[in-house]
Amino acid sequence: MNFLEERIVKDGVVKEGNVLKVDSFLNHQMDIKLLNQMGAEFKKRFEGKPINKILTIEASGIGIACIAAQHFDVPVVFAKKSQSINLDGDMYVAEVESFTHKCINHVIVAQKFLTPDDHVLIIDDFLANGCALQGLIQIVQSSGATVEGIGIAIEKGFQSGGRMIRNLGFQLESLAIVDGMNAETGQIQFRDQNVPAKSGDAAGDGEICRSCTLD
Ligand code: 5GP
Repeated sequence: MNFLEERIVKDGVVKEGNVLKVDSFLNHQMDIKLLNQMGAEFKKRFEGKPINKILTIEASGIGIACIAAQHFDVPVVFAKKSQSINLDGDMYVAEVESFTHKCINHVIVAQKFLTPDDHVLIIDDFLANGCALQGLIQIVQSSGATVEGIGIAIEKGFQSGGRMIRNLGFQLESLAIVDGMNAETGQIQFRDQNVPAKSGDAAGDGEICRSCTLD
């Protein structure tokens, strides 16, 4: 097990509905030493990529992205979420479904912060069905910038987002991939990332972004 998997086993809580709570160290209270280790690991995994900007989404991605940015020595842009927008023409906007709020959120980035010259690393805390990521990718592509890679803390490998994003050809690096979890026993099963994936691995062929999870 790597450092993040160990911490998930120690302090993560499996909830009904395939929800993993990591709010004691990752997305409510934040363990900055752990975030720093994650930032160093992202730097290692994206070594050689000409990354000049990190893009994330409010709120949970911001802390992780900011600590990682110190390792890359680049600025962070975070996409803002809003249910209603006044489009005044200088924003990139994508639609993202929210499971918790049962509504469509608009995800917004000011055009001045993403340009065709940018080489972007997208960072977020969780990847489930991939709705949030799809929105961020769409925004980068609208700007003419390049997605150099995607760094995720925890991928839920039994949901379809990871496979969808990898099939699109992006370098997706998830520090921990949870392939199964049991709310009754609290057990969490991680994917061995040293074993090459077989085709057909990772669940969920179905439609993407029908059910985005928590925020
Ligand atoms: P997706 O858009 O990939 O379906 O979901 C990603 C977003 O949902 C993440 O940004 C994260 O905030 C939230 N999320 C998805 N699954 C979980 C989970 O099991 N636990 C927590 N805490 N958040 C989750």
